[in-house]
Amino acid sequence: MSQGDRMKQGQFTNPETPGYVGFANLPNQVHRKSVKKGFEFTLMVVGESGLGKSTLINSLFLTDLYPERIIPGAAGRTPAQTRTGLQAVAFVMLLSFMHSRSFHSQTEKIERTVQIEASTVEIEERGVKLRLTVVDTPGYGDAINSQDCFSTIISYIDDQFERYLHDESGLNRRHIVDNRVHCCFYFISPLGHGLKPLDVQFMKAIHNKVNVVPVIAKADTLTLRERERLKRRILDEIDEHGIKIYHLPDAESDEDEDFKEQTRILKASIPFAVVGSNQQIEAKGKKVRGRLYPWGVVEVENPEHNDFLKLRTMLITHMQDLQEVTQDLHYENFRSDRLKRSGRLSSHGYVLPLSPANGPEPEEMDKDMILQEKEAELRRMQEMIAKMQAQMQKQGDGEGDV
Ligand code: GDP
Repeated sequence: MSQGDRMKQGQFTNPETPGYVGFANLPNQVHRKSVKKGFEFTLMVVGESGLGKSTLINSLFLTDLYPERIIPGAAGRTPAQTRTGLQAVAFVMLLSFMHSRSFHSQTEKIERTVQIEASTVEIEERGVKLRLTVVDTPGYGDAINSQDCFSTIISYIDDQFERYLHDESGLNRRHIVDNRVHCCFYFISPLGHGLKPLDVQFMKAIHNKVNVVPVIAKADTLTLRERERLKRRILDEIDEHGIKIYHLPDAESDEDEDFKEQTRILKASIPFAVVGSNQQIEAKGKKVRGRLYPWGVVEVENPEHNDFLKLRTMLITHMQDLQEVTQDLHYENFRSDRLKRSGRLSSHGYVLPLSPANGPEPEEMDKDMILQEKEAELRRMQEMIAKMQAQMQKQGDGEGDV
């Protein structure tokens, strides 16, 4: 099916099949071989607590409601008040698709310091496998010192690059599991008048490491005019502060008009103003995922109500590009920087073997290498002196014979 056919099925509309996410279309983006192998994608979500990250992720990858769960230890909270973490999403996905990898203990969810919670699930849709990892960062922005939460998140991103680099230089290069973060949804509060200093600092701290997609949370709290004003303001500030967000590639000139139009609309919608919900509500005679207000229903999957479907379309149709930019730009930056720092690329122009995982830090490795070089030099000089002494001895013996 061509991009055009896909578009004709309805732009940003919700596909009819229950449980449909849309990655069944990935074969259109890549070669059959990769399809057989499956796709690996890691999405990170960052933003202050309570902005609706878990709810949105749930809405993005599930159409079924997940059961509300009581978290042990969260005394005094009702299930509805309990933070609906990504573990819950993963749990339901695990049940739904019968493929499990890992998810963390529930008690982690009530701690307030910044943590990294990675939940991996393998989903199969129309024969296409997707190994999806969602990395949540609960507690972001709660700490008094924002640098603390930055460094936890940055270390996580770097660790995945480091692991990949290590695996790539190992023997089993063909079967590397790619855990690199391919995309980061950065949630911006709808209540401010633009970006907060924390938003600016964080996006600048990660923009050279990961594809940043800015998202305005809880868009149902804004009128259409307020939404447009906030979008313009955020884009101006992103520009002003030199923040590099992910840019959708232009549609190729030989692409059909519908696809070009879709790309144009997606580009014009950034930052995506989204609404998430874990509830199915009766609206106009059918069940929809939405939020019920005294004056009506905000439908999550209605493009006239918010940019949820555009965000999902962007993620699905550009998954391969997000992976390529991660590989060709962010990972390459990390790799060359890392190799230069450890002195493995610069002088001779070729890459020397890497130290084992959890090996010494680059600075320590630099010192080690200098020390090793000096020792080798010393050994060479000692050998030379020994040779000269032997020669002189020989000559002395010869003279004595005369
Ligand atoms: P997280 O801490 O960022 O993961 O936020 P949650 O997903 O746990 O959501 C926090 C609260 O915001 C919950 O009560 C959600 O029902 C509510 N919420 C989530 N998404 C939206 C939204 O799009 N609009 C509104 N108005 N509320 C939302």
